[in-house]
Amino acid sequence: MTSVLLLIPTTSYQTADFLAAADELGIDVFVGSNEASVLSNLGGRTMTVDFADVDRGCAQILALANEVPIDAIVPVDEVTTAVAAAAADALKLRHNPLESVLRAGNKLKLRECLRDARVSTPEFVHVDKDADASETARGVTFPCVLKPLNLSASRGVIRADGHNSFVVAFQRIRDLLNEIGGQTEAARTVLIEQYIPGRELALEGLVNQGKLQVLALFDKPDPLEGPYFPETIYVTPSRESDDMQESISRTTQDAVSAMGLKDGPIHAELRLGDSGPVIIEVAARSIGGLCSRVLTFGAGVSLEELVLRHALSLPIESLERESQAAGVMMLPVPGETPGRLNAVAGIDRARSVPHILDVTLSIPLGERIVPLPEGNRYLGFIFARAESPLAVEQALRDAFGAMTFHVSEKEAGT
Ligand code: ADP
Ligand code: CA
Repeated sequence: MTSVLLLIPTTSYQTADFLAAADELGIDVFVGSNEASVLSNLGGRTMTVDFADVDRGCAQILALANEVPIDAIVPVDEVTTAVAAAAADALKLRHNPLESVLRAGNKLKLRECLRDARVSTPEFVHVDKDADASETARGVTFPCVLKPLNLSASRGVIRADGHNSFVVAFQRIRDLLNEIGGQTEAARTVLIEQYIPGRELALEGLVNQGKLQVLALFDKPDPLEGPYFPETIYVTPSRESDDMQESISRTTQDAVSAMGLKDGPIHAELRLGDSGPVIIEVAARSIGGLCSRVLTFGAGVSLEELVLRHALSLPIESLERESQAAGVMMLPVPGETPGRLNAVAGIDRARSVPHILDVTLSIPLGERIVPLPEGNRYLGFIFARAESPLAVEQALRDAFGAMTFHVSEKEAGT
């Protein structure tokens, strides 16, 4: 029987959707995770994989492959791409080269690669987190964006417009990096980039032998101007002109080629600057959270099934997304300080808004929630489908407007 190894961190939202897709395909699944016990309901099919140590994680996977045949390894999250690439290489499975996913997983490496290949990307400098913030600020052109190298979900990404806001932002990122810990260069570095104004889009693609196939292009209709950058609304198809969409695909293909990505899904983010699309990020994985639930291809195939089929070199009937418009809203943690999520009112009302498919909460009531820039979770997701992108966007806004989040006051000592 065909079998696939999914590499999923325990914090991932996506386990269920990938397992459902594997089920649909009738293939065997093994799940490698950093804490296999959390997935113990999968019985003997889970294993612990060290995602932080590529050699160790790779050896753990090779030990499994000695016992059972593995036909594909699929990294479901950014932090699992390096181990997946190394193990797939050793087992001669379809994969991205290790260097290419290391570029995708490190914002400084990505910028250096794109700059050297003359692919449009923000100008940047980088400094150690313990550098003198005030001194560093003197050499910076404003507005700029400060960020750590290897976090995701906009964690630690802060815009600064002048010397004072820079110093505050820098200190905040330093505190975050100190709290997360780690002595690698990536864990000690702050990237400082030119701020690119303009509309932002996300491109979901599948790379096949180095060639990018666009699966969906999402507009992000909420202005993302900082100082923090919570993801909110994604709507597809894009309302950009055909020429602009073509230009976005070309720029993303250029980035994919420069990075050396060969085989697997990508999730790219671009801004439309004064002289065309600018690459913000290219991740070597499919879209995060539960967002993929709004995407279906051909005769109702999920994104996860496409990813699995591609990894296994199984036939793919169609990469064409369904004809209706679709969208998702990620619900950011409200407020400026951590608190506890006590109640969420209006979910049923939100669900009954026309064109809304579902509203899902991803944080249990009573749990501590942390807003950006330190937090790394969403409260939940709203999904919509309608005849036009505008109707989708409006439905998402109406559903969000129907909901109220009750968060307790800042807790003492936090
Ligand atoms: P993450 O991996 O955490 O998503 P990103 O580098 O993608 O980090 O940044 C998150 C968001 O911050 C982007 O989607 C974008 O809205 C904003 N952003 C990041 N860098 C820039 C930049 N140089 N100019 C303008 N906006 C930026
Ligand atoms: Ca991003």
